[in-house]
Amino acid sequence: STAVALEDVGRTYQLAEPVHAVDGVSLELENGSFTAVMGPSGSGKSTLMNLIGCLDTPTAGGIEIGGNPVANLSNAERARLRGTEIGFVFQTFNLMPRLTAAENVSLPLVFHDDVDQDRRERARELLERVGLGDRLDHVPSELSGGQRQRVALARALVNEPTLVLADEPTGNLDTDTEAEIMDLLVELNEAGTTLLVVTHERTVAEYADHVVHLLDGHLEDIEHLGSARDVTV
Ligand code: ADP
Ligand code: ADP
Repeated sequence: STAVALEDVGRTYQLAEPVHAVDGVSLELENGSFTAVMGPSGSGKSTLMNLIGCLDTPTAGGIEIGGNPVANLSNAERARLRGTEIGFVFQTFNLMPRLTAAENVSLPLVFHDDVDQDRRERARELLERVGLGDRLDHVPSELSGGQRQRVALARALVNEPTLVLADEPTGNLDTDTEAEIMDLLVELNEAGTTLLVVTHERTVAEYADHVVHLLDGHLEDIEHLGSARDVTV
């Protein structure tokens, strides 16, 4: 079944000259698929990701998440969809500097009725899953870049999203750390989560089963890598 469907989606910024950041993009992401989005700077990658993540609204066309047209949702329903179905990972980690790893991970649970102890337990499980079971009470400045991104990944997973969107998740990491983070994302995908990763790096895109190539806001090509990945295990 289809996790995300875009039908002729556009996003135009009305500047002195209109900027067509995303233009006429039709795309389907299957449940459990892993898609990379590549393209030169300014080709619309971040805009596309923000549209799929309901952080931004198309100026043309329509988006369905889990078969539901996003345009029919109220702002509150959209915020709820973002909070419960979608996990976000960013290049700059976006952690709260004064909060510990465990507190950062449990932040998205703030609207749950769980008691603090349950939230801490959930954060501990997730941090263990990303290999940081011994760093619960460290603040971000006490962690390496790769460890910070693991915390951010654990935070993205805390509400058990069906869709994870990652914008240059390894952009600030060295090659070895990049591989560690990508292995975690692959593991997540193999457990059934639909994954979309925006990247400049061919090495990152090659973990995906499809690569969407954008140019000037247009979908230029969809490259299928599925069999290549199966062979290289
Ligand atoms: P945006 O695309 O929204 O401007 P990004 O986080 O993708 O934000 O990147 C910010 C800028 O940094 C981009 O304009 C891009 O040129 C540059 N950049 C980021 N990562 C890389 C990279 N791995 N290789 C080359 N340039 C990069
Ligand atoms: P990428 O992520 O591939 O670097 P972006 O999606 O960030 O590309 O940008 C696509 C185009 O839209 C660029 O021309 C960029 O300058 C423009 N753009 C992005 N965000 C805005 C904005 N908030 N206001 C105006 N123009 C924007």
